Amino acid sequence: MTPVPFPRSWYADTANPHPVHPVLEGERRCDVCVVGGGYTGLMAALELRERGYDVTLLEAERVGWGASGRNGGQIITGYNKPMADVERRVGRDDARALWDLNEEAKALLAERVERHAIRCDLTWGYVLAALKERHVAELAGMERELREGYGYDRCERLDRERMAAFVRSPGYIGGLYDAGSGHLHPLNYALGLADAAVAAGVHLFERSRAVALDTGPKPLVRTPGGTVRADHLVLAGNAYMNGLVPALSGMIMPVATYMLTTEPLGAERAASLLPADVAVSDMNFVLNYFRRTADHRLLFGGGVSYSGLDHPGLAQALRRKMVGVFPALKDVRTDQVWGGHVAITVNRLPHIGRLTPTTFFAHGYSGHGVALAGIAGRVIAEAVAGTAERLDVFARIPHMPFPGGPMLRTPALVLAMLWFRLRDLL
Ligand SMILES: Cc1cc2nc3c(=O)[nH]c(=O)nc-3n(C[C@H](O)[C@H](O)[C@H](O)COP(=O)(O)OP(=O)(O)OC[C@H]3O[C@@H](n4cnc5c(N)ncnc54)[C@H](O)[C@@H]3O)c2cc1C
Repeated sequence: MTPVPFPRSWYADTANPHPVHPVLEGERRCDVCVVGGGYTGLMAALELRERGYDVTLLEAERVGWGASGRNGGQIITGYNKPMADVERRVGRDDARALWDLNEEAKALLAERVERHAIRCDLTWGYVLAALKERHVAELAGMERELREGYGYDRCERLDRERMAAFVRSPGYIGGLYDAGSGHLHPLNYALGLADAAVAAGVHLFERSRAVALDTGPKPLVRTPGGTVRADHLVLAGNAYMNGLVPALSGMIMPVATYMLTTEPLGAERAASLLPADVAVSDMNFVLNYFRRTADHRLLFGGGVSYSGLDHPGLAQALRRKMVGVFPALKDVRTDQVWGGHVAITVNRLPHIGRLTPTTFFAHGYSGHGVALAGIAGRVIAEAVAGTAERLDVFARIPHMPFPGGPMLRTPALVLAMLWFRLRDLL
């Protein structure tokens, strides 16, 4: 059968060679069935297999077909909320545990890349870029909070002059450099995890969408071609699960977000924009994020569509944002534009836990999943193996569904987001 192609992107164009995995046919029996072949599912499968479980992973399309093969590739310290906000929600002790889990998430990613020799251009260094005086004040507060509250001393505050060593854009008036964050080629990282999982003995099936689930005491997953009966299920379809589990789908909102790459700029020109080869995010609510690629392009993301509809002038709008940051690129060609769905939660913290005594889930990393999805896979594996303390740290984060449910959550969110966009302009 002809393999389903990856959605067009620079990542798909530069993917490492990878096998096509078989389609599930017939009946299987295993210890754990994982649904979803992004970072969450792949890491859960790998960690489970290494603990001795017989694991079957079902992926609806291709491994890395979802957000894991399309994202900005930014490995980010912390959560999508300041730690003070996390502390208010979960208390100081759990906030500390969540911080430690996030640090472990980055270390786990690095360890997997090294152990399995995954060729994914892993590079450390990241800058949060300030556009306004209030951003500069926020960064100062952030740096102090992390240093004093969490003993994190890998950040350096940058004034306008020092910023030029990292990002040469006229718009930024300061920044915060973080040596503990970084970037990678996201699809190649996912493909490398899949290779490692298969080498460890995970049974991996592609083009095998779970279309019905029994999450009771004897879990069962049905695909168009077969069934998997298991002792445990791991639901890792995130923003791409399309309502398969109604109890989970109302807890996240899939938001469309977009990226482009320029034509190759040459090493010198690319380095003239980002001399230190860091990943960058700016501090607007609807943020721009960018970095260099290994073949010396600029990879630029920004713009979201909360209505989930494709913006007609999308490529042009994204280009305008890029030229706003780097006016020198106004004559440069855009080579690829693509989008994907990122899953956000109401409080922007990940939603991880148990659906039933046999079924675990993780989703809603709210733009921080490159690192966090891996640790979610690990704590789920621990919980299946009988040690749920660390899963429970995540499971204690209070969450609520999006108001209005699947039908009305979008208009409500669009209104809220318009307000934040207005705030970006102030
Ligand atoms: C454009 C974009 C930019 C982003 N940038 C960043 C960034 O720079 N840094 C960062 O940390 N995060 C970023 N993110 C978020 C990050 O990519 C995600 O948090 C992360 O990849 C989630 O991994 P996952 O495995 O949970 O989900 P996914 O990678 O989406 O994987 C889910 C998989 O499940 C499969 N699936 C769904 N339903 C079924 C089913 N019924 N049966 C079988 N399989 C199923 C899908 O096909 C998919 O392959 C970005 C996301 C997007 C879209």
